Amino acid sequence: MKKIARISSPDCLDNDTDASRNRKISFYEKLRDKNGDIYPRWNTIGKDKNGISEIRKRLMEMSDACCAYCGDKLETGVMEVDHYLPSGKFPYLAYCWDNLIPSCKCCNLSKSDFTPASLQDKKIVEHIISDTYEFDCIYDKKYLLTQIARDDRLIDPTFDDPEEHLEFNPEFYFYEAKTETGKITAKRFFNKHKEVAEKWEKISLFIRNLVCEGISEEIIYDFIKLQGYEYICLKFYAYWLNEKQEGRIDRDSQQMEI
Ligand SMILES: [Zn+2]
Repeated sequence: MKKIARISSPDCLDNDTDASRNRKISFYEKLRDKNGDIYPRWNTIGKDKNGISEIRKRLMEMSDACCAYCGDKLETGVMEVDHYLPSGKFPYLAYCWDNLIPSCKCCNLSKSDFTPASLQDKKIVEHIISDTYEFDCIYDKKYLLTQIARDDRLIDPTFDDPEEHLEFNPEFYFYEAKTETGKITAKRFFNKHKEVAEKWEKISLFIRNLVCEGISEEIIYDFIKLQGYEYICLKFYAYWLNEKQEGRIDRDSQQMEI
C-alpha cells in the first residue's frame, strides 16, 4: 500500500463555487430513491461517450488507475468507488470527494462497511449542509482521523502515509503492522486472505525470474507499471536483487509461474 496524493475534486463535487455547491446541496436534498437507496451519483454524473462518470474518471486519474488499497491495476469500468466512511452509516458524506477512494472489487468487499467504533454513533455531515441537517461533527478529515478515530480505523492511503503503519515482508508475503491502524488494515485487507498471498507469491516468483535472467531494470519497471501492485512489486524487486547479489538464488532452479 502506498501513499496517494489526493487531487482536486471533479466539478460536480466541488464545494468552492456557488453553482457547484448549490447543485451538491440539491443532491443531498434528494438523497435516496423510492427504495431508500442512496443515488449512486458517483457512477452517473457527467458520463463521457464511453459511459464513464466524471467522478470515476477523476478517481482513476488520482490513483493512476490502481486500487488505492492493494495496488491492483483497474479498468475504468471495473473500478469500484469506495466510501472510506461508509455511505450507509454516513449518508451526508455520500458525495464528499475526500471520502471517496478508488478500489478493486476484492478490497471493497473486504472493507465492506467497516466503521471505526469511535465514529459508530456519530452523525457526520459535510460543512456545506451543516445548516440544514443535524450533526455531531462536521466533516473535517484531519480532525476525525487524527483526533477521534486515531487508533481504531483503517489506513486511508489518500491521507496517511501507509509506510508509517505497515511494512511489507517480501519473503513471506505479509504486511507487518507498526501501529494499531496498520494492524487493523493488514487484517482487513491482506493477511489471512489466502487468495491475496497466492497472488503475491506468483508476482514474487515472476519478478524473481526476471532478476535471475538479468532483465534490465527499465524493462522490469515497465512490467511493474503495466501489472499494477507497484508498491509490492518494488519490494519484491529489491528483495530478489539482494538475494541475487548474496548468491542465494540459483538461475537453474527458477520456475516460470506466470
Ligand atoms: Zn484492491
